[in-house]
Amino acid sequence: MNPMNNSLKFLSELDKQSDIILIAHTSPDGDTICSCLALFELLKKCGKNVQLVCDCVVPPILSFFENSDKFIMPEDAVKSPCVMTVDCSDTGRLGRAYPLFENADVTFCIDHHITNTAFADYNIIDAEAAATAQVVYFLSEFAKNNKQNLKIDSLGDIDKNIASYLYGGILTDTGRFAYSNSTADTFYAASKLVEFGIDVSDLCEKLFMTIPLRKSKLLGYCLEKSKLFSNERIAYSFLPLAVVKEYNAGNNDTEGIVENLRNIDTVEVAVFVRQDDENRYKISTRSKKYFDVSELCRKYGGGGHKRAAGFNFEGDIDSFIDNLIAEIGNEL
Ligand code: 5GP
Ligand code: MN
Repeated sequence: MNPMNNSLKFLSELDKQSDIILIAHTSPDGDTICSCLALFELLKKCGKNVQLVCDCVVPPILSFFENSDKFIMPEDAVKSPCVMTVDCSDTGRLGRAYPLFENADVTFCIDHHITNTAFADYNIIDAEAAATAQVVYFLSEFAKNNKQNLKIDSLGDIDKNIASYLYGGILTDTGRFAYSNSTADTFYAASKLVEFGIDVSDLCEKLFMTIPLRKSKLLGYCLEKSKLFSNERIAYSFLPLAVVKEYNAGNNDTEGIVENLRNIDTVEVAVFVRQDDENRYKISTRSKKYFDVSELCRKYGGGGHKRAAGFNFEGDIDSFIDNLIAEIGNEL
Protein backbone atom coordinates (compact mmCIF):
# COMPACT_ATOMS: atom_id res chain seq x y z
CA MET A 1 0.00 0.00 0.00
CA ASN A 2 1.11 3.52 -0.67
CA PRO A 3 4.93 3.66 -0.77
CA MET A 4 5.61 6.94 1.13
CA ASN A 5 9.37 6.79 0.60
CA ASN A 6 10.05 9.88 2.64
CA SER A 7 8.01 8.79 5.66
CA LEU A 8 10.96 7.44 7.61
CA LYS A 9 12.85 10.73 7.36
CA PHE A 10 9.69 12.72 8.08
CA LEU A 11 9.02 10.71 11.25
CA SER A 12 12.59 10.73 12.56
CA GLU A 13 12.81 14.50 12.09
CA LEU A 14 9.43 14.94 13.78
CA ASP A 15 10.68 12.80 16.69
CA LYS A 16 13.29 15.49 17.49
CA GLN A 17 10.61 18.13 18.09
CA SER A 18 9.00 18.63 21.48
CA ASP A 19 6.58 21.49 20.71
CA ILE A 20 4.57 21.45 17.53
CA ILE A 21 2.01 23.87 16.10
CA LEU A 22 -0.51 22.21 13.79
CA ILE A 23 -2.08 24.67 11.33
CA ALA A 24 -5.41 24.05 9.61
CA HIS A 25 -6.20 26.03 6.45
CA THR A 26 -8.28 29.20 6.39
CA SER A 27 -12.03 28.64 5.78
CA PRO A 28 -11.51 25.22 7.32
CA ASP A 29 -13.30 22.12 6.03
CA GLY A 30 -13.86 18.70 7.56
CA ASP A 31 -10.60 17.28 6.22
CA THR A 32 -8.28 19.94 7.63
CA ILE A 33 -10.02 20.03 11.04
CA CYS A 34 -10.29 16.24 11.40
CA SER A 35 -6.73 15.61 10.20
CA CYS A 36 -5.44 18.21 12.71
CA LEU A 37 -7.47 16.65 15.54
CA ALA A 38 -6.15 13.17 14.70
CA LEU A 39 -2.54 14.41 14.56
CA PHE A 40 -3.11 16.36 17.80
CA GLU A 41 -4.05 13.14 19.62
CA LEU A 42 -1.39 11.00 17.93
CA LEU A 43 1.42 13.48 18.60
CA LYS A 44 0.32 13.80 22.23
CA LYS A 45 0.69 10.01 22.47
CA CYS A 46 4.27 10.55 21.27
CA GLY A 47 4.85 12.91 24.22
CA LYS A 48 4.69 16.15 22.22
CA ASN A 49 3.18 19.47 23.30
CA VAL A 50 0.78 20.37 20.51
CA GLN A 51 -1.11 23.56 19.70
CA LEU A 52 -3.99 23.57 17.22
CA VAL A 53 -4.17 26.78 15.18
CA CYS A 54 -6.62 28.06 12.58
CA ASP A 55 -7.32 31.63 11.51
CA CYS A 56 -11.11 30.98 11.44
CA VAL A 57 -13.37 29.42 14.05
CA VAL A 58 -14.27 25.76 13.58
CA PRO A 59 -17.53 25.58 11.58
CA PRO A 60 -20.50 24.67 13.83
CA ILE A 61 -21.16 21.49 11.83
CA LEU A 62 -17.74 20.17 12.95
CA SER A 63 -17.96 21.31 16.57
CA PHE A 64 -19.36 17.95 17.75
CA PHE A 65 -15.86 16.49 17.35
CA GLU A 66 -14.13 16.09 20.69
CA ASN A 67 -11.36 18.72 21.20
CA SER A 68 -12.62 20.92 18.35
CA ASP A 69 -12.75 23.68 21.00
CA LYS A 70 -8.96 23.40 21.40
CA PHE A 71 -8.28 25.35 18.18
CA ILE A 72 -6.82 28.77 18.92
CA MET A 73 -6.36 31.87 16.78
CA PRO A 74 -2.84 32.47 15.37
CA GLU A 75 -2.32 35.53 17.59
CA ASP A 76 -3.03 33.42 20.70
CA ALA A 77 -0.49 30.73 19.84
CA VAL A 78 2.74 30.46 21.80
CA LYS A 79 5.57 30.73 19.26
CA SER A 80 7.15 27.39 18.52
CA PRO A 81 10.27 26.34 16.55
CA CYS A 82 8.22 23.65 14.79
CA VAL A 83 5.13 24.04 12.62
CA MET A 84 3.17 21.49 10.63
CA THR A 85 0.65 22.55 7.98
CA VAL A 86 -2.27 20.20 7.42
CA ASP A 87 -4.28 20.06 4.16
CA CYS A 88 -2.76 23.37 2.96
CA SER A 89 -1.81 23.46 -0.73
CA ASP A 90 0.26 26.62 -0.36
CA THR A 91 1.30 29.04 2.36
CA GLY A 92 -1.47 31.45 1.32
CA ARG A 93 -3.92 28.92 2.77
CA LEU A 94 -2.44 29.53 6.23
CA GLY A 95 -4.08 32.96 6.31
CA ARG A 96 -3.14 34.90 9.45
CA ALA A 97 -1.21 31.86 10.72
CA TYR A 98 1.50 32.43 8.09
CA PRO A 99 3.91 34.31 10.45
CA LEU A 100 4.00 31.21 12.72
CA PHE A 101 5.21 29.21 9.70
CA GLU A 102 7.61 31.90 8.52
CA ASN A 103 9.25 32.21 11.94
CA ALA A 104 9.56 28.47 12.61
CA ASP A 105 12.98 26.79 12.52
CA VAL A 106 11.67 23.58 11.02
CA THR A 107 8.48 23.04 9.03
CA PHE A 108 6.44 19.98 8.07
CA CYS A 109 3.61 19.66 5.57
CA ILE A 110 0.99 16.91 5.19
CA ASP A 111 -1.29 17.33 2.21
CA HIS A 112 -3.00 15.81 -0.84
CA HIS A 113 -3.37 18.74 -3.28
CA ILE A 114 -1.92 18.26 -6.75
CA THR A 115 -0.97 21.96 -6.77
CA ASN A 116 1.10 21.64 -3.56
CA THR A 117 4.61 23.00 -4.13
CA ALA A 118 6.29 21.09 -1.24
CA PHE A 119 6.91 24.38 0.54
CA ALA A 120 7.99 22.95 3.91
CA ASP A 121 11.32 21.44 5.01
CA TYR A 122 9.72 17.99 5.22
CA ASN A 123 6.70 17.14 3.10
CA ILE A 124 4.36 14.23 2.73
CA ILE A 125 2.13 15.01 -0.22
CA ASP A 126 0.05 12.33 -1.86
CA ALA A 127 -2.00 13.84 -4.70
CA GLU A 128 -3.62 10.43 -5.27
CA ALA A 129 -5.09 10.45 -1.77
CA ALA A 130 -8.74 11.47 -1.49
CA ALA A 131 -8.12 13.39 1.73
CA THR A 132 -5.31 14.53 3.98
CA ALA A 133 -6.95 12.30 6.59
CA GLN A 134 -6.15 9.37 4.29
CA VAL A 135 -2.49 10.50 4.15
CA VAL A 136 -2.45 10.69 7.96
CA TYR A 137 -3.93 7.19 8.18
CA PHE A 138 -1.20 5.73 5.96
CA LEU A 139 1.52 7.64 7.80
CA SER A 140 0.20 6.21 11.07
CA GLU A 141 0.09 2.72 9.59
CA PHE A 142 3.65 3.23 8.35
CA ALA A 143 4.79 4.25 11.87
CA LYS A 144 3.11 1.14 13.26
CA ASN A 145 4.79 -1.18 10.75
CA ASN A 146 8.22 0.49 10.72
CA LYS A 147 9.08 1.08 14.35
CA GLN A 148 12.32 2.99 14.87
CA ASN A 149 12.49 2.60 18.65
CA LEU A 150 11.63 6.26 18.94
CA LYS A 151 8.82 8.04 20.73
CA ILE A 152 7.33 8.86 17.33
CA ASP A 153 6.46 5.15 16.97
CA SER A 154 3.32 5.98 19.00
CA LEU A 155 2.03 7.80 15.92
CA GLY A 156 0.84 4.32 14.97
CA ASP A 157 -1.51 4.12 17.99
CA ILE A 158 -4.86 4.96 16.42
CA ASP A 159 -7.79 4.53 18.84
CA LYS A 160 -11.55 4.73 18.34
CA ASN A 161 -11.71 8.52 18.76
CA ILE A 162 -8.80 9.12 16.36
CA ALA A 163 -10.40 6.69 13.90
CA SER A 164 -13.60 8.76 13.96
CA TYR A 165 -11.62 11.92 13.11
CA LEU A 166 -9.84 10.25 10.21
CA TYR A 167 -13.02 8.66 8.90
CA GLY A 168 -14.74 12.07 9.18
CA GLY A 169 -11.99 13.74 7.14
CA ILE A 170 -12.22 11.08 4.44
CA LEU A 171 -16.02 11.21 4.43
CA THR A 172 -16.16 14.98 3.88
CA ASP A 173 -13.48 15.19 1.16
CA THR A 174 -15.00 12.31 -0.82
CA GLY A 175 -18.60 13.56 -0.48
CA ARG A 176 -19.44 10.30 1.32
CA PHE A 177 -17.26 8.23 -1.07
CA ALA A 178 -19.11 9.65 -4.08
CA TYR A 179 -16.34 11.58 -5.86
CA SER A 180 -13.79 10.17 -8.29
CA ASN A 181 -11.02 10.67 -5.70
CA SER A 182 -12.27 7.55 -3.83
CA THR A 183 -9.81 4.76 -4.66
CA ALA A 184 -9.07 1.28 -3.34
CA ASP A 185 -6.65 2.92 -0.86
CA THR A 186 -9.48 5.18 0.35
CA PHE A 187 -11.75 2.22 1.01
CA TYR A 188 -8.88 0.27 2.57
CA ALA A 189 -8.17 3.11 5.02
CA ALA A 190 -11.90 3.54 5.70
CA SER A 191 -12.36 -0.17 6.39
CA LYS A 192 -9.39 -0.22 8.80
CA LEU A 193 -10.88 2.80 10.59
CA VAL A 194 -14.32 1.18 10.81
CA GLU A 195 -12.65 -1.79 12.57
CA PHE A 196 -12.07 0.52 15.55
CA GLY A 197 -15.82 0.44 16.19
CA ILE A 198 -16.70 3.97 15.07
CA ASP A 199 -20.36 4.84 14.44
CA VAL A 200 -20.40 5.41 10.67
CA SER A 201 -24.07 6.33 10.33
CA ASP A 202 -23.89 8.78 13.25
CA LEU A 203 -20.85 10.50 11.66
CA CYS A 204 -22.60 10.64 8.30
CA GLU A 205 -25.75 12.09 9.85
CA LYS A 206 -23.83 14.74 11.81
CA LEU A 207 -21.67 15.76 8.83
CA PHE A 208 -24.21 15.62 5.99
CA MET A 209 -27.75 15.45 7.32
CA THR A 210 -27.76 18.23 9.93
CA ILE A 211 -28.43 21.33 7.86
CA PRO A 212 -29.61 24.73 9.16
CA LEU A 213 -32.67 26.01 7.28
CA ARG A 214 -30.79 29.14 6.13
CA LYS A 215 -28.28 26.90 4.35
CA SER A 216 -31.03 25.07 2.44
CA LYS A 217 -32.60 28.42 1.54
CA LEU A 218 -29.28 29.77 0.26
CA LEU A 219 -28.90 26.69 -1.92
CA GLY A 220 -32.42 27.29 -3.22
CA TYR A 221 -31.55 30.92 -4.01
CA CYS A 222 -28.36 29.97 -5.88
CA LEU A 223 -30.03 27.23 -7.92
CA GLU A 224 -32.91 29.55 -8.77
CA LYS A 225 -30.47 32.23 -9.98
CA SER A 226 -28.15 29.81 -11.81
CA LYS A 227 -27.37 30.20 -15.50
CA LEU A 228 -26.12 27.72 -18.08
CA PHE A 229 -23.57 28.42 -20.84
CA SER A 230 -21.80 26.59 -23.67
CA ASN A 231 -24.61 24.22 -24.63
CA GLU A 232 -25.57 23.88 -20.96
CA ARG A 233 -22.17 22.36 -20.13
CA ILE A 234 -21.21 25.22 -17.77
CA ALA A 235 -23.35 26.12 -14.76
CA TYR A 236 -22.81 29.41 -12.97
CA SER A 237 -24.30 31.12 -9.96
CA PHE A 238 -23.50 34.28 -8.04
CA LEU A 239 -24.28 34.93 -4.39
CA PRO A 240 -24.25 38.66 -3.54
CA LEU A 241 -23.05 39.89 -0.15
CA ALA A 242 -26.49 41.40 0.53
CA VAL A 243 -28.05 37.91 0.35
CA VAL A 244 -25.29 36.41 2.53
CA LYS A 245 -26.13 39.08 5.12
CA GLU A 246 -29.89 38.65 4.73
CA TYR A 247 -29.57 34.96 5.61
CA ASN A 248 -26.90 35.66 8.25
CA ALA A 249 -24.84 32.99 6.51
CA GLY A 250 -21.38 31.81 7.48
CA ASN A 251 -18.79 30.43 5.04
CA ASN A 252 -19.84 26.84 5.68
CA ASP A 253 -23.44 27.69 4.75
CA THR A 254 -22.32 28.04 1.12
CA GLU A 255 -20.55 24.67 1.05
CA GLY A 256 -22.18 22.21 -1.31
CA ILE A 257 -23.75 24.81 -3.62
CA VAL A 258 -21.16 24.31 -6.35
CA GLU A 259 -21.60 20.52 -6.18
CA ASN A 260 -25.34 21.00 -6.70
CA LEU A 261 -24.62 23.09 -9.79
CA ARG A 262 -22.36 20.31 -11.08
CA ASN A 263 -25.13 17.76 -10.48
CA ILE A 264 -27.18 19.29 -13.32
CA ASP A 265 -27.36 16.54 -15.93
CA THR A 266 -25.82 18.44 -18.87
CA VAL A 267 -23.05 20.14 -16.87
CA GLU A 268 -19.31 19.41 -17.00
CA VAL A 269 -18.02 22.52 -15.18
CA ALA A 270 -19.69 24.44 -12.34
CA VAL A 271 -18.60 27.89 -11.21
CA PHE A 272 -19.91 29.43 -8.01
CA VAL A 273 -19.02 32.95 -6.88
CA ARG A 274 -19.60 34.17 -3.35
CA GLN A 275 -19.17 37.88 -2.70
CA ASP A 276 -17.18 38.28 0.53
CA ASP A 277 -16.77 42.05 0.53
CA GLU A 278 -17.56 44.98 -1.76
CA ASN A 279 -14.67 44.06 -4.06
CA ARG A 280 -13.66 40.61 -2.86
CA TYR A 281 -14.97 37.27 -4.12
CA LYS A 282 -14.46 33.57 -3.51
CA ILE A 283 -14.65 31.47 -6.67
CA SER A 284 -15.34 27.73 -6.36
CA THR A 285 -15.10 25.44 -9.37
CA ARG A 286 -16.01 21.79 -9.93
CA SER A 287 -15.87 19.46 -12.91
CA LYS A 288 -17.58 16.16 -13.56
CA LYS A 289 -15.58 13.94 -15.89
CA TYR A 290 -12.61 15.48 -17.67
CA PHE A 291 -12.06 19.25 -17.27
CA ASP A 292 -9.05 20.11 -15.06
CA VAL A 293 -10.22 22.93 -12.78
CA SER A 294 -6.99 22.89 -10.72
CA GLU A 295 -5.11 24.09 -13.83
CA LEU A 296 -7.70 26.80 -14.38
CA CYS A 297 -7.59 28.03 -10.77
CA ARG A 298 -3.81 27.92 -10.60
CA LYS A 299 -3.75 30.56 -13.34
CA TYR A 300 -5.66 32.87 -11.01
CA GLY A 301 -3.48 32.30 -7.95
CA GLY A 302 -5.53 29.47 -6.47
CA GLY A 303 -5.39 25.71 -6.72
CA GLY A 304 -6.90 22.45 -5.52
CA HIS A 305 -7.70 19.21 -7.31
CA LYS A 306 -8.63 18.25 -10.87
CA ARG A 307 -12.33 18.05 -10.02
CA ALA A 308 -12.48 20.65 -7.20
CA ALA A 309 -10.52 23.87 -7.00
CA GLY A 310 -10.87 27.52 -6.09
CA PHE A 311 -9.34 30.95 -5.79
CA ASN A 312 -9.98 34.44 -4.47
CA PHE A 313 -10.58 37.43 -6.72
CA GLU A 314 -10.52 41.19 -6.21
CA GLY A 315 -11.76 43.62 -8.84
CA ASP A 316 -14.44 43.98 -11.51
CA ILE A 317 -16.24 40.65 -11.19
CA ASP A 318 -18.72 40.99 -14.08
CA SER A 319 -16.13 41.24 -16.85
CA PHE A 320 -13.90 38.72 -15.08
CA ILE A 321 -16.67 36.11 -14.99
CA ASP A 322 -17.62 36.77 -18.63
CA ASN A 323 -14.01 36.05 -19.61
CA LEU A 324 -13.70 33.06 -17.29
CA ILE A 325 -16.81 31.41 -18.71
CA ALA A 326 -15.60 32.12 -22.26
CA GLU A 327 -12.21 30.62 -21.37
CA ILE A 328 -13.80 27.46 -19.95
CA GLY A 329 -16.14 27.25 -22.96
CA ASN A 330 -13.16 27.40 -25.35
CA GLU A 331 -11.39 24.58 -23.52
CA LEU A 332 -14.40 22.31 -23.12
P1 5GP B 1 -13.79 25.08 -2.27
O1 5GP B 1 -14.27 25.48 -3.62
O2 5GP B 1 -14.67 24.04 -1.65
O3 5GP B 1 -13.50 26.22 -1.37
O4 5GP B 1 -12.39 24.39 -2.49
C1 5GP B 1 -12.22 23.30 -3.35
C2 5GP B 1 -10.77 22.89 -3.38
O5 5GP B 1 -10.00 23.94 -3.94
C3 5GP B 1 -10.18 22.60 -2.02
O6 5GP B 1 -9.39 21.44 -2.14
C4 5GP B 1 -9.33 23.78 -1.70
O7 5GP B 1 -8.18 23.39 -1.03
C5 5GP B 1 -9.00 24.36 -3.05
N1 5GP B 1 -9.04 25.82 -2.97
C6 5GP B 1 -10.12 26.59 -2.79
N2 5GP B 1 -9.78 27.90 -2.76
C7 5GP B 1 -8.45 27.95 -2.93
C8 5GP B 1 -7.48 29.01 -2.98
O8 5GP B 1 -7.80 30.20 -2.86
N3 5GP B 1 -6.18 28.65 -3.16
C9 5GP B 1 -5.80 27.35 -3.30
N4 5GP B 1 -4.52 27.07 -3.49
N5 5GP B 1 -6.68 26.34 -3.26
C10 5GP B 1 -7.98 26.61 -3.07
MN1 MN C 1 -8.48 17.95 1.88
